[in-house]
Amino acid sequence: MSTQPERAGLEASRLITVLANELKPVPPPQELRFGQSMTDHMLFASYDPVNGWSAPEIKPYGPFTLEPNSSCFQYGTSAFEGMKAYVGPDGEPRLFRPEMNIARFARSAARMSLPPFNPDELLKLIKALVAVEKRWIPAGKGYSLYIRPMIVAIGLLTSNTALLWVMCAPTGPYLKGGSQALSLLAMRDTVRAWPGGTGEYKVACNYGPTINPVQAALDKGYDQTLWLLGDKITEAGVMNVFIVLKRDDGGIDLITPPLDGTILPGVTRDSILALAAAHPARMTLPGLAPTTLLHPSERTMTMTELQAWLAEGRLLEMFSVGTAVVVQPIGNIGYDGKDIALPTFEGGRGPVGQALYERLTDIQDGRFEWEGWSVRCED
Ligand SMILES: *Cc1c(COP(=O)(O)O)cnc(C)c1O
Repeated sequence: MSTQPERAGLEASRLITVLANELKPVPPPQELRFGQSMTDHMLFASYDPVNGWSAPEIKPYGPFTLEPNSSCFQYGTSAFEGMKAYVGPDGEPRLFRPEMNIARFARSAARMSLPPFNPDELLKLIKALVAVEKRWIPAGKGYSLYIRPMIVAIGLLTSNTALLWVMCAPTGPYLKGGSQALSLLAMRDTVRAWPGGTGEYKVACNYGPTINPVQAALDKGYDQTLWLLGDKITEAGVMNVFIVLKRDDGGIDLITPPLDGTILPGVTRDSILALAAAHPARMTLPGLAPTTLLHPSERTMTMTELQAWLAEGRLLEMFSVGTAVVVQPIGNIGYDGKDIALPTFEGGRGPVGQALYERLTDIQDGRFEWEGWSVRCED
């Protein structure tokens, strides 16, 4: 009787590093466009149902060949992540709450029946890649190295043969115009996600179909789409949304839609809820009075409510959040043929959005220590 050999897990101790012979010139920070120039190296591993994970490799970034009948092309069996490495004043490369991205990556992969991997091992490998690509991390506020892990199925009908890779690109501030308020077009005919669907996973099939509606919004002069589900506000483009409301007791409500399966559980969203909850008892947010009480909550918000809050003068700020933009103010919503003007502020963000932006970027760059959120890549 033959015994089935055990399939190998993804193991950082098996890492093989082959460095590029020639390194590319690093573009000057002011010339960076989102995701345009890739760094010199990538992390790569493959999985097959007999052997399990191959020894992971750090090797020169470059193309590879795939069978035309690979499942990822035909059925979109692919999942991805978006995270960033930062260098702070101490010159140390850092990741921001990377275990949250990797856990989400594993959930997205599982939803597409892609093979499992050990999240701790993948984190070690990503740290090793960032350490190799350290010279590519631009310094300065708003600058970082964007890290894109991907996992795709290359089998035919099943997802059990797969490739996993991690690639990096230096980035500057996401949108030209910096923190200028966005004008969103609320979509009435198309939805991004629906109950029982895959909206809470970062899987390729959620994103391809949004390119066309986003282009339609751009063609009409808007910057992004506002995704609704009936009357419910869900997300803005590929960002989570927050509304800041004045309360009767003088405090401030900070609300965002609950994770009901149609919302992508953003790391930035989670971080903002946590930072708001810590103010002022455990930490004061920069520029906000310690007497200003913030009440973060996850609750449904509708277009009907938004218009009522605006009419009552209770709506103070609306902003979108995500790894790429951090905190981006929203100044206008196109809705049923008219424009709803939201409060706007000189310099872009309102006081609550600005306070959260400052604290979050200080933590990301390693200028402010908070709950182990900023993780060094080199020990
Ligand atoms: C990635 C993403 C976000 C933001 O998540 P972060 O972890 O904060 O970057 C929000 N919405 C959608 C649809 C996304 O794909």
